Amino acid sequence: MHAKKTKKVLVLLGEKNISIVQEILDVIYKLALKYNIKAYLVGGPVRDFLMAQEKNFKIFKDLDIALTGYYQEIGNELASVLKARPIFYPRFMTMTISLSDFRVDIAQTRKEIYPQPAVLPQVFPATIEEDLKRRDFTINAMAIPLTEEFIKNTEAQVLDPLGGQTDIKDKLIRILHPKSFIDDPTRIFRALRFASRLGFKLEETTAQLMQDAIHKSYLTLLSGERVFYELEMICKEKNALKILAELQERKVIKKLYKTQLPQDFFLYASKLSNDEKLVYLFSFFADKHYKHYPLKKEFILVVRELQKSSELTRKLKKIKRRSTIYFLLKPYHLNTLNILKKITHGSVRKKIVNYLTKLKDTKIHTTGQTLKRYNIAPGPSYHKILNKILAYKLDGKIKTPKDEERYLNKLLGR
Ligand code: ATP
Repeated sequence: MHAKKTKKVLVLLGEKNISIVQEILDVIYKLALKYNIKAYLVGGPVRDFLMAQEKNFKIFKDLDIALTGYYQEIGNELASVLKARPIFYPRFMTMTISLSDFRVDIAQTRKEIYPQPAVLPQVFPATIEEDLKRRDFTINAMAIPLTEEFIKNTEAQVLDPLGGQTDIKDKLIRILHPKSFIDDPTRIFRALRFASRLGFKLEETTAQLMQDAIHKSYLTLLSGERVFYELEMICKEKNALKILAELQERKVIKKLYKTQLPQDFFLYASKLSNDEKLVYLFSFFADKHYKHYPLKKEFILVVRELQKSSELTRKLKKIKRRSTIYFLLKPYHLNTLNILKKITHGSVRKKIVNYLTKLKDTKIHTTGQTLKRYNIAPGPSYHKILNKILAYKLDGKIKTPKDEERYLNKLLGR
């Protein structure tokens, strides 16, 4: 593709234009011919393509490509065509190219060996058939070879050695072998996530083996990072709360966090955004159960503040003065207050809303410079005086800069 065409690709990708996805597939197809290897569309996109009423490339949220060789070379060439920076994960023989709201994942076809339950597998190059066998569920274990017929006319010859198409028809989530949930317990979360998203049921043996793996605590062997990622992905789903309720019912929450989410959780969480749901969820878990998770400082701060929020709401109920509300709420992170605003009622909620929409942005004209001009020695008293003026202003006792000056003189006994 020459420069002009590349530019077109980048501009149009933002709108996920059908022909652009088609062009990316075409580039990969031609690179596969050049390197004399086979390229396949695999995983989620194949599932979504087969489930779509209308067969076109618009349905692809991402592209998931498996290559029988040269994934690094082809990945690099595609990235340079797309003028994007590729990220390689050599340990897993994969690479990713991220464009504004679209992602292309490219991987070497591979098989996996799990040295122990719940740890990341060792991977080895393998055939496409072996690659499909290492996957999570039959509906995610199909491939479409990139051919001219597919790229031009969406005519797909589906590689489906494990019966994914039948399970799509029967609306079933089915694992590929009995040890699947033991090898990788994140599949417990994934199974419930896909079942809920697609309106599918767990196939009977799959459901039994899942309960068995939960009962035997394999989940607790997962790294915190992996559990957190799964919960984050769940909170992004439209049916997030249904999935969390199911995790609770199946005792996943209890195994991991030794607790039960209260009924209220589901009611309140329904008012929150995806990110807020996740942080609110963690506020029900004791620190010690996720202390090894690599969580952002800000996330932990909001969790801790939410955990202590009943004390805050008790105090808020009792106070009326605007300045008191201001100084009580000021130390809190805005994300905490935005959550509390949505999950509290009556006067408490009103006070939080008032703080967020008006009080927090109240400014005074008096500054440290003003105090210097009054010959006050710089020190902790500055903070005290400025806060007194701010409190007076919040409470409506002074309005203009002149009022502030008068009050300052009064404060200083001048
Ligand atoms: P989504 O629509 O949520 O993106 P997806 O199927 O594309 O769904 P990914 O998490 O992007 O999901 O994974 C891509 C593919 O990799 C899956 O379809 C599946 O074949 C395989 N896969 C992902 N995670 C696992 C896992 N834990 N065990 C086995 N195979 C997995």
